[in-house]
Amino acid sequence: MTLCMENSGRGHLIKNHPCFSENAHGVYGRIHLPVSPACNIGCRFCSRSFNKTEQRPGVSRVLLSPAEAVEKVRLAIELCPEISVAGIAGPGESLATDDALDTLEAVHKEFPHLIKCLSTNGLLLSEKAERIARSGVQTVSVTVNSIDPDVQKNIVSQVIYKGKVLQGREGAEKLISSQIEGIKKIIELGITVKLNTVLIPGINENSIEEVAELASALDVFMMNVIPLIPQHEMSGMRPPDCGEINSAREKVERHIQVFRQCRQCRADACGIPGKSEFSSQLYDEPLNTFSHG
Ligand code: SF4
Ligand code: SF4
Repeated sequence: MTLCMENSGRGHLIKNHPCFSENAHGVYGRIHLPVSPACNIGCRFCSRSFNKTEQRPGVSRVLLSPAEAVEKVRLAIELCPEISVAGIAGPGESLATDDALDTLEAVHKEFPHLIKCLSTNGLLLSEKAERIARSGVQTVSVTVNSIDPDVQKNIVSQVIYKGKVLQGREGAEKLISSQIEGIKKIIELGITVKLNTVLIPGINENSIEEVAELASALDVFMMNVIPLIPQHEMSGMRPPDCGEINSAREKVERHIQVFRQCRQCRADACGIPGKSEFSSQLYDEPLNTFSHG
């Protein structure tokens, strides 16, 4: 596998990012660097955890420092040369602390050929936009579950902004307005954006098309509709069935391209999504994984 060394431009992303291109999915890999310890909102479905076994977002074996993360990238590309993306997706929120951007900046210096990617809830996207661009980040996924505050307040229990705890409709309004402002700003800065939307039966199925319309108007690149994994306050709820997921994706597709291959990976995933997984070698037995000969 030869990675294209010219890593700028949307053409490169479309060819080489496994989660911004269905053609690249199954061919190229990513490493998720679990460096983000905290969050600034409270999604009612979120339960962060440290273990080796659960296959879902928000779960990692460990929390890495930025320096440790750079070393994990070095090992990861030896284990899996198909890795084209160094991304941060948890276990907490990428922008709630400086850890994610410090990490991506350091990874960018050492591995400029890799695409740098982060996932965020968008609350601090606008105010951190310039730093994100300066850190070498080219792709950002923003989770937008509804742009209707009366729906969003049923998904997010609280929003912590500048030391104030905002609840109910007030918190929902703040989150939505920050997300929209942040998405506009990072797109203006040349970053390619995907929206992730968690489909929650009985809560936001009627909001999804409105999110897609807005995404298209903002020049978002694609949308990823992912099924609820019932946890935390939503542990008694059911995930959507295949018919509901397909119907939501069809509605989205009227407005914007849909990514259908998301595996809802762990925060410490490493390898080609759906094809290879090297995180146990990377974390559980790092001394036995390879030899410099
Ligand atoms: S933004 Fe992410 S980490 Fe924060 S509560 Fe929501 S799902 Fe969990
Ligand atoms: S969670 Fe989905 S979008 Fe993210 S790396 Fe895994 S497959 Fe790709």
